[in-house]
Amino acid sequence: MTLQNGKYWDVSFNPLRGCTHCSPGCDNCWAEDVDKRFNGGKDFDGTGPHFYPEVLDKLEHWKKPRKVFVCDMSDAFYWGVGSAVTENHLHQWEVFCAMKAHPRHQYLLLTKRAENMAYWSERWQGWWGGTPDNWWLGGTCENQEWADKRIQHLLQRRSTGLCWASFEPLLDSVILDRRHLYCPTHDFNGGFYCGSCRDMRRLDWIVIGCESGPRRRPCKLEWVDSLIRQGKKMGIPVWVKQIEVKGKIIKGLNQISNILGYPAESLRQWPEKRQP
Ligand code: SF4
Ligand SMILES: [Zn+2]
Repeated sequence: MTLQNGKYWDVSFNPLRGCTHCSPGCDNCWAEDVDKRFNGGKDFDGTGPHFYPEVLDKLEHWKKPRKVFVCDMSDAFYWGVGSAVTENHLHQWEVFCAMKAHPRHQYLLLTKRAENMAYWSERWQGWWGGTPDNWWLGGTCENQEWADKRIQHLLQRRSTGLCWASFEPLLDSVILDRRHLYCPTHDFNGGFYCGSCRDMRRLDWIVIGCESGPRRRPCKLEWVDSLIRQGKKMGIPVWVKQIEVKGKIIKGLNQISNILGYPAESLRQWPEKRQP
């Protein structure tokens, strides 16, 4: 029922847990709240991310192919600070190798550390000749500043995998323009000006959603509408996860369709070639 309730993954996979805030999208971190409530705040003690190697076995146990959201109790590309970084790199490496060893699943990776994702993308290029095709590399873009910073890194990836942006929590209006195009031939951001090149790289998928939780910040319908229109204009499939109307969160597809005035089928689209 994902199409109706807005959830676009089947299962969460959390071999790494714990993180630190890095941009306004983190202010009301859901994972931190869950950790405080059910785990005494052990994972978000500031020394993470903490590694739970036994969780890696889940990929083997899930016999049917699934859409796996990697690390929704952390940021899969957060590697801590100071002397812990080297050890955390090894843990991340183990997680990526486990994913590589189970290619039947689709892996959704979403980060606020897109520069670290770009670092790993270089490594994957060296080891495997690119990012595996079934890995969806995404960045959170809560406002214009962070969309500009993160999308650049996403587009420059050395990969064949998917590249997507999650505008959740959407905290302001965001304009997508030439800065969010990339010319792989000339290694050039702002590829709009790369006149002779036809293969501009752009986002493969856009997810849009208001913030959740009791401390959620407002999300105007006009910001959502603007992103939908921009996605359609650029030919990028759009997935509207949830919207806010008069302080209430709406997830039902038919309701969202009525409120925004778009056909339901145009608001929950999968990236091309990844139809379920
Ligand atoms: S990056 Fe994600 S998990 Fe980490 S603090 Fe921010 S919202 Fe929480
Ligand atoms: Zn070019």
